[in-house]
Amino acid sequence: NEILVEVRDLKVHFPITRGVLFDRVVGHVKAVDGVDLDIPRGRTYGLVGESGCGKSTLGRALLQLTPPTGGKVTFDGIDLTRMAPNKLRGMRRRMQMIFQDPMSSLDPRQNVESILTEGLHAHGIGESRDERRRIISETLDAVGLPRWALSRYPHEFSGGQRQRIGIARALVLGPELIVADEPVSALDVSIQAQVVNLLDELQDNLGLTYLVIAHDLAVVRHISDVVGVMYLGALVEEAPSDRLYSEPLHPYTRALMSAVPVPDPDVEDRRERILLAGDLPSPANPPSGCRFHTRCPWAQPTRCAEERPVLRQIGRSRVACHWAERIASGELRPHRVDA
Ligand code: SF4
Ligand code: MG
Repeated sequence: NEILVEVRDLKVHFPITRGVLFDRVVGHVKAVDGVDLDIPRGRTYGLVGESGCGKSTLGRALLQLTPPTGGKVTFDGIDLTRMAPNKLRGMRRRMQMIFQDPMSSLDPRQNVESILTEGLHAHGIGESRDERRRIISETLDAVGLPRWALSRYPHEFSGGQRQRIGIARALVLGPELIVADEPVSALDVSIQAQVVNLLDELQDNLGLTYLVIAHDLAVVRHISDVVGVMYLGALVEEAPSDRLYSEPLHPYTRALMSAVPVPDPDVEDRRERILLAGDLPSPANPPSGCRFHTRCPWAQPTRCAEERPVLRQIGRSRVACHWAERIASGELRPHRVDA
């Protein structure tokens, strides 16, 4: 199967409850509200957006760690959303997650050997103790941790090494898909590149498929083949990585890009700075029409506030904006530009 993961009209709506027994539903937080995307096998899909836009919920819903309330997720042709819980447990081995803060996701009382062995036992991997030892040794080598790490505890490692332990814990099960939620945002900038390079190298050697979630566009740029941008529970743009960064089409993507510093200090940064008005609106009460219209520097009267734009193909990109072509041509100018 060319496409390993297929997401169709995925929804995760959390009820907002009131009352003594919290049994009165007064509304819903639409954390994910109708997302369509494909992740080709062996590729990396980067998912970006501000915190609170629903990207982590989407990652968890994809693995069925948070149950979707609508839509469908297909993994290798298998519909996960209709799968019985015991069958789903068997699938877990093929789909693993890496978290932002390895310290809070690793049990501080377990040494590395027991952290890695636990997963093998849980999934019945390895016929004998020797075989399990061999799998664990190979995994340590793959993530660049020394053998002596096995007898040590998470707190004895640096942040970067702890993330390697987190990666090893996922990798030891031999997964095909890894969802990495902010895998480097808790690390020093100097260490971030090492971990991103490790993920890239593992992908090349093992043919892994990734969904990498990050609020920082720079992090996913080089590792991603395709990047999707989320705003208030929906994808607003998706494009091949080179295209998204060189020619962002959606106003929200343009604003995010304009905030990314130019790497070379000797090169004058002539791009326009696009400042967004206000904060991210509440996903419990999203704006009408285009959800971005309350902050969009290009918003046009009535249509933007009334009609929700659908994600449509423009060249190699998919964009959810009524005016994307006229914005790209410069025919429509932004209302708010800060030089
Ligand atoms: Fe901005 Fe309107 Fe496009 Fe939404 S549809 S991004 S409000 S111009
Ligand atoms: Mg790659």
